[in-house]
Amino acid sequence: MSEATTPRFRSVLDRFVAYKPGKVVVSPEGRSFKLSSNESPEGPLPSVLDAIAAAARNVNRYPDNNATALTEAIAGFCGVPADQVAVGCGSVGMTQMLLEAVAEPGTEVVYAWRSFEAYPLLVSLSGATGVQVALKDETHDLPAMADAITEKTRLVFLCNPNNPTGTVVGRAEIEAFLDRVPEDCLVVLDEAYREYVRDDEVPDGLTLVGDRPNLAVLRTFSKAYGLAGLRIGYLVAHPVVAGAIRKTFLPFSVNSVAQAAGIASLEATDELLERVERTVKERDRVHGALRADGWTVPPTEANFVWLRLGDRTMEFSAACDAQGVSVRPFEGEGARVSIGSPEENDAFLEVAKAFPHRN
Ligand code: PMP
Repeated sequence: MSEATTPRFRSVLDRFVAYKPGKVVVSPEGRSFKLSSNESPEGPLPSVLDAIAAAARNVNRYPDNNATALTEAIAGFCGVPADQVAVGCGSVGMTQMLLEAVAEPGTEVVYAWRSFEAYPLLVSLSGATGVQVALKDETHDLPAMADAITEKTRLVFLCNPNNPTGTVVGRAEIEAFLDRVPEDCLVVLDEAYREYVRDDEVPDGLTLVGDRPNLAVLRTFSKAYGLAGLRIGYLVAHPVVAGAIRKTFLPFSVNSVAQAAGIASLEATDELLERVERTVKERDRVHGALRADGWTVPPTEANFVWLRLGDRTMEFSAACDAQGVSVRPFEGEGARVSIGSPEENDAFLEVAKAFPHRN
């Protein structure tokens, strides 16, 4: 086709690079351990599988567009009224919904960098200007983020624990930051990894929402709840904020099987949190083994570790690939490695031990 026949696209697409998901690799021996997407290493619980099978019988019908039962179950779980909850197609879908609700050309969105890759992608699609604030010691620099807010700022993303570094900010720092944010600017506390946090200084975001109408807490069923393939995220905020975000919901984008699985998972929270406990133990083991082996690894409160490898990042990632261990490299910066099963973690630690240089 000649260029003249090409439809016209939005100019933001010229600079847009599509999201790159974690890859799967297979070693020459057929070994494949996926430690590139921070997923739960364990499959769904039997009770969740039963709920999925039961819901699957009715997929000739559209889902409940309001996800009423799931929203009520989440509200009950979080201890808030249902009008403070909005659900979406994964928390990445909710990130897009949030931007749809507040961002437009001429406005700014502030976030730390490096952080979750979907922020710059979705901000650029929204037409708003992304303002990146460098991490300090691999951690959010909240005073610098507050300094970066202008009268054009509509939204601030604060990822706690931060993806990909696993680092956290504590209650006092967050409260001091929130006190500096103008009331008409929304702060989104992205707590995708909240369930893995064991540091008492780190606040449960839900306790901060209270009477702050400009704070939204974002959570997901993809990590601790082990439902990454079903795509469910939710937000807890002031009813006015939750109501505005709900308006941007792509119709039916939380499907009926996902709704049923979400409800069944909340009913199985205790069992799922036992799994999380296993992951936390493994995280501490992996972190300790790397440090003992001479690696510099920032403290992590998430289900992954961050290795700052600079220009050796791709070499390290290739060494992992060769052993069938897929990690998430960020070229020139470092590699994020998810905590998997003990066997998967041992395979990763073996590669790390054999890697000729330390970071
Ligand atoms: N927020 C953060 C910080 C993440 O790391 C991720 C997943 N990598 C998400 C949101 C999105 O998760 P999901 O869309 O699966 O809910």
